[in-house]
Amino acid sequence: MKDYNPKENLFNALEGKGIVRTPVASFTQTGIVDLMESSKAAWPMAHEDPKLMARLSMAAHELIGFEAVRVPYCVTVLAQALGCGLNMGQIDKQPSVVSHPLSDLESEMHYPDDLLYRARVPVVLESVRIIKEEMEGEVPIIAGFEGPCTLASDLIGAERFLISFIKKPEYVSSVIDAATLVCMEYADALIEAGADIICVADPVASPELISPKMFDRYIMGDLKKLANGIKGRSVLHICGNVYKILDSMSRCGYDALSIEEKIDDLGKAKELIGSRTRLIGNVACATTLFNGTPGIVRKEATIALKHGIDILAPGCGLAPKTPLENARAIVEARNEFYS
Ligand SMILES: [Zn+2]
Repeated sequence: MKDYNPKENLFNALEGKGIVRTPVASFTQTGIVDLMESSKAAWPMAHEDPKLMARLSMAAHELIGFEAVRVPYCVTVLAQALGCGLNMGQIDKQPSVVSHPLSDLESEMHYPDDLLYRARVPVVLESVRIIKEEMEGEVPIIAGFEGPCTLASDLIGAERFLISFIKKPEYVSSVIDAATLVCMEYADALIEAGADIICVADPVASPELISPKMFDRYIMGDLKKLANGIKGRSVLHICGNVYKILDSMSRCGYDALSIEEKIDDLGKAKELIGSRTRLIGNVACATTLFNGTPGIVRKEATIALKHGIDILAPGCGLAPKTPLENARAIVEARNEFYS
């Protein structure tokens, strides 16, 4: 396509301006085993080595065709920096949080004055710098991290978090407030390092775990504050069936919302968000991309395009064992749609 500038096109799509064609990218994790093998940058090492982290993420741009590069591959970087213990997983398993510094439900969150030097924070920042240099600034860089609610849940422990959100909401809310400040400092550093777009992934804020009422009362304000503080383009990703909070999400100030296939009526979703923000998604990860065939992927991607998705993308993080040809089929579907 003549004069097609994918970076400009993606930025325009995020801002709701005119586009040449619907961009295709992933705002959620892109590390799949097929790419780890071909790029020789595999988990768990690629979570801890900036060069490997950069190389694997660039492979998703080069070998799948996503029109952006996205780092990192987990939502545990800030949790670890704040003292959570991690299991780093394996080649096909993401890191997971195994211990929680605020499990006593009393301690105040300790805000570190050396956040940017802790655990893997410097690794992600360095990987962004490497990508920026290697791609010569021509491919947009998306940097993601866990949102305030998910971070607070990791600090307290998931089950305790959900129970105490009802029994001790003031305490939980104070942890979410403090987590928001950590997210803001990290977002600033990522932008400074060269990230073009910040994706705040807050799976624990989903109505599947927390009631929409609690979302509006205790979480929305923090997500709004975070969006306002991000000095760049921003995206909010919340997993699952988010119909009940879509209106609230659209009022948080993010350029776009990344949604899953459980939002199965894009027309209705667009009505709920109005012209306040854009929609990214929503090809099913666990079923279609992981378990389906390229044909099924193309079919589902084409439906999303027909119903006016603003940016075509996987609905959530790619499962590590997603076949490369299935991931590629999203890009093929977009190309066919415009041919
Ligand atoms: Zn998700």
